[in-house]
Amino acid sequence: MALTEFDIIERYFSSINHLPDEYRRYIDVAIGDDCAIINNFPDKQLALSVDTVVEGVHFPVQAEPSLVAQRALSVAVSDLAAMGAKPLAFTLSISLPDSNSAWLEHFSLGLDEAAKSYRMQLIGGDTTRGPLSISVQVFGLLPMMRRLKRSGAQVGDLLFVSGSLGDAALALDVINGACNADGSATEYLLSRFYQPTARVMLGESLLDLATAAIDVSDGLLADVSHILQSSSVGGEIYLSQLPLSEVMSQLATPERAMEYAATGGDDYELCFTVSPDQREQILEFADLFEIPLTEIGRIVQGDGLLCLDAKGQPVEPSNLGYQHFQGDS
Ligand code: ADP
Ligand code: MG
Repeated sequence: MALTEFDIIERYFSSINHLPDEYRRYIDVAIGDDCAIINNFPDKQLALSVDTVVEGVHFPVQAEPSLVAQRALSVAVSDLAAMGAKPLAFTLSISLPDSNSAWLEHFSLGLDEAAKSYRMQLIGGDTTRGPLSISVQVFGLLPMMRRLKRSGAQVGDLLFVSGSLGDAALALDVINGACNADGSATEYLLSRFYQPTARVMLGESLLDLATAAIDVSDGLLADVSHILQSSSVGGEIYLSQLPLSEVMSQLATPERAMEYAATGGDDYELCFTVSPDQREQILEFADLFEIPLTEIGRIVQGDGLLCLDAKGQPVEPSNLGYQHFQGDS
């Protein structure tokens, strides 16, 4: 029997709730009414962001539904992490070609798992028929007037990035058959593409420390350029320092690996600037959160981004396969 829209909401979406007890007081009304209502508290600000993923554009056709769900939520939560916000709740607007209950079952299980990892509640949404597309609107909490913007980088600051870079772009080449990988390498890369970890705890910890931050969604060079433009400063990136995974080093030549790391998108790592006297503190965070945090460059006077090779010689971004460097926004 075909599922109605209400069956779908009731069966698959109405009970995704992993909010810790101390945050339940923020949610007044959740699924089941015309609006969700979030209480506002005098000492907090609400951070909002929405991301849409479309089948065949942002993830491959026929992708495993639980992974599609996990990726859709993580991509949205990554924007909260980049601002230092604590994830609270999300809404889900989903357009489905048909009401396939096996697909929905797996999708909702994947969504529940991701919501659990970020300790969030699904508080509302919209369910319609159409080409497969998923919009996730996330809501996060910030302490009053404290946040990580793109605009605070200062001349002399160090540039850091979390995790490893380029894995998601390499994963897409493996999925598309442009690159061959064995079973365990493929498994690692697929998890880096479909199950990125939004760096929530790192973002929150950077609130009092970083001068600017962004999540790496478009590719490192593009995203660092956004910080530079917003902060009206220039930057240098040490290409030989870009953090690479073991799998990347095994599968790609050093030149290709550098290109993936510099220009590949979809890694959802955090890139941030700190004053040099915070270097030790950042390295302590790396131990604490068990995430590599690598110093990859610095902020300088002027504008634009200079890429330097291991000998300190400038490298043209176009030689890194980066076509849209100039004037990209
Ligand atoms: P309305 O027509 O008033 O917009 P709907 O009938 O679309 O309400 O939805 C009924 C309730 O179910 C609302 O509270 C809505 O937020 C929620 N809802 C609808 N689709 C979803 C979804 N995909 N995920 C979570 N909640 C949903
Ligand atoms: Mg209504």
